[in-house]
Amino acid sequence: MTIGWHFDNSYYKLPKSFREEIDPVPVKKPELIVLNENLAKNLGLDFSNLNKDEISHILSGNDLPKGSNSIAQAYAGHQFGHFTMLGDGRAVLIGEHISKSNERFDIQFKGSGKTSFSRSGDGRAALGPMLREYVISEALHFLDIPTTRSLAVVKTGEEVFREEVLIGAILTRIASSHIRVGTFQYIAARQKKDELEILVNYVIDRHYPNIKNEKNKALELLKVLMEKQISLVINWMRVGFIHGVMNTDNMSVSGESIDFGPCAFMDTYNSNTVFSSIDQFGRYSFSNQPKITKWNITRFAECLLPLIDENENKAIELATEVIEEFENRYQRKWLNMMRDKLGMFGEESSDIDLINELYKIMETQKLDFTNTFCHLMKIKIDENESYMQDEFTKWKNKWLQRLKANESPNNNQLELMRKNNPIFIPRNYHVEKALEEANKGKLELLKKLLNVIERPYDTNDQSLEFINPGPENRNYKTFCGT
Ligand code: AMP
Ligand code: MG
Repeated sequence: MTIGWHFDNSYYKLPKSFREEIDPVPVKKPELIVLNENLAKNLGLDFSNLNKDEISHILSGNDLPKGSNSIAQAYAGHQFGHFTMLGDGRAVLIGEHISKSNERFDIQFKGSGKTSFSRSGDGRAALGPMLREYVISEALHFLDIPTTRSLAVVKTGEEVFREEVLIGAILTRIASSHIRVGTFQYIAARQKKDELEILVNYVIDRHYPNIKNEKNKALELLKVLMEKQISLVINWMRVGFIHGVMNTDNMSVSGESIDFGPCAFMDTYNSNTVFSSIDQFGRYSFSNQPKITKWNITRFAECLLPLIDENENKAIELATEVIEEFENRYQRKWLNMMRDKLGMFGEESSDIDLINELYKIMETQKLDFTNTFCHLMKIKIDENESYMQDEFTKWKNKWLQRLKANESPNNNQLELMRKNNPIFIPRNYHVEKALEEANKGKLELLKKLLNVIERPYDTNDQSLEFINPGPENRNYKTFCGT
């Protein structure tokens, strides 16, 4: 009876200071809630010869697979601007699985019990938030946005205590790695240059082998990560995604979206939207996401300084030169992304004004972010009368005029728009409803939702019920750390 695990645990072989060796704390009565069979297949894993009970014991960490070396990773992080020593306080990395196509994936159990990094936490997670991470990460994946993925959620058969008593659960998270900007901050804070060098070389080998032979590897790594993070945040801006807690420990050096706590997709457009209940000052609001990305990259650069140049002033000068490019690079890429969203080929100097004008109208008229672009693609799902009013139709005429400058035929324009504008996003209303039912043991709605998010750009095959934003909830809040 083989599942197909093939472990090769390279992070485990790094210096002991990088992690704590620790097994997941066994749970009472694990019960499988969802298993991502397609993802399992892609990973070369086959659970079909096991019964549900056996799968539950494996995916809760009660039965550790042969070849795994379970560890909690050490890291630090700026949380809402404040530097803290952190580490996996409620997760363990059981190892790196090599898929049939020879790709390396971290297998992590989130909610797996206390570690030496747990501080005052209980090391556990609740069913709602773990299912939420499952839904959101899978949705991002199918939206073609780099992200960690979710293989399974298992109930633990134990209670977790927050403001209320909740159902305990463990998520199996799959990532190209769990190395964070915060991992660099942790190592840099130890002020051991040899360890920093080991980490830089490890990350380059694992994620960016093409810069392996560069003369100044640390500086090149900074450039690559900045580019990766710019692309990532632009993807979030494209679909109206708000991560919610862009602390440096929640920024992966692989460029994947990671750690989905109080995140959500925006319904009504407002650039200041914040969903997280703890983000009182809007640090991580929709429009702040690029600025925070730059702030985090600057923290990353600070860690690398000793390796960029032995002369600190020279190192700062070189790093600053890179980071000062952030706005230009972001702006250029963002503008092109917006041109794609609007089906505009080529470049016109007035494009930026046209885009800003649309966003202004969307904000003042309180239009739905996703549905506005659907309307422009002539997909009639939201017959909002604002689209018929003067302000919008005037703008639309200007846009149609701009489309005439396209040298491509009309169908290419529509094709471009359809590739960049989802019709379906996991809307807050439906996510909450699905999680609420799952908490009561009813999984139909969750399964339906998981099915629909697999085809976000498909115009033919959408369940209308999931396109509707639902009754408006302006005070929608999500909670993290639960
Ligand atoms: P997060 O908000 O999930 O990104 O977590 C931030 C830090 O708090 C990480 O070091 C987590 O491991 C830790 N943490 C979050 N929740 C818990 C918990 N229930 N028990 C122990 N540590 C936790
Ligand atoms: Mg985190």
